Amino acid sequence: MNVYYSTDHLQHQPPFEIFDGGDKIPNFEVPERAERILAAVKSAPWANILPPADFGLDPILAVHDRGYIEFLRSAFAEWQARPADEGIEKIALLPATFPPGRWRRTPKSLLGRAGLYMADLAAPITGGTWQASLSSANCALAGASDLLLGEKIAFALCRPPGHHAGKDYCAGYCYINNSAVAANRLSAHGKTAILDIDYHAGNGTQDIFYHRSDVLSISIHADPDFEYPYFAGCADETGEGAGLGFHHNFPLPAGTDSQAYLATLHTALDLISSFDPRFLVIPAGMDLFAGDPLGKFAVTTTGIRQIGHEIASLGLPSLVVMEGGYNNAALGENVLALLQNFANR
Ligand SMILES: [Zn+2]
Repeated sequence: MNVYYSTDHLQHQPPFEIFDGGDKIPNFEVPERAERILAAVKSAPWANILPPADFGLDPILAVHDRGYIEFLRSAFAEWQARPADEGIEKIALLPATFPPGRWRRTPKSLLGRAGLYMADLAAPITGGTWQASLSSANCALAGASDLLLGEKIAFALCRPPGHHAGKDYCAGYCYINNSAVAANRLSAHGKTAILDIDYHAGNGTQDIFYHRSDVLSISIHADPDFEYPYFAGCADETGEGAGLGFHHNFPLPAGTDSQAYLATLHTALDLISSFDPRFLVIPAGMDLFAGDPLGKFAVTTTGIRQIGHEIASLGLPSLVVMEGGYNNAALGENVLALLQNFANR
């Protein structure tokens, strides 16, 4: 199994985030996450670890708004170049103003655009964010290329993650939607399904494919009635226009254990089988694990192994894309548990 990893992720180290309701805390999404997973994967005899090629901006601009991508690329340097704001330490850019829906002009000022293109306070832009995000997307694209060449499985060890990033916004530790960029590339060669198993709803992916019928998107996650991202992920959001019926959310309650999760997974897998895709993309967050500091599910490592087994049993060419997961000590073991059955099939 090819595993795509870039050291560029180390350049992205946001020192803080503004957590639920206002606490300024150390950012949960740290480089240690990817390094732990890399160390675990290195120990597996089936893993072939490779740096990704550079696929350029075209596949990214195929799913993201050009103005947003330009903002992401230039915002930090533009901020640094502003006349020094007395007393402000310019380490990580966050917006101070969020436009209500009716205020959708594109402001000229940097802080105005920060409000337009940044949906929350958990995705600060640092000096290394652009390069890390670009290489993270390249990891997903490299995995997609493997499937196009006939491989049955690839693992994109992406960091930063991507599934909360929408067409024109970053959010929730995510800047470029790696899974969506890869799925869109695959969709040019055949029907593609996305099965998001991160604990949080894949709102960005939902946004990007909401009007399309050639990509089936499914997300199993904590109910947005109590959990981030709050504004998306409900069961009645099923696509619009040509995409109606091609998006499915499965919101689950706090305390969901392996057995209850697997019952929902079976329903999702039936939907994928009926869609009969050529490719499957799996945005995989390990924050569904019982011991995750940001999660409220009770899925065990054994449960994660079984989830991998059930998805692998579909027999589809599959790209697993790393999303969240914040119990750093357990990340490596849980990722290996998920991938094991793909490696063995
Ligand atoms: Zn998550």
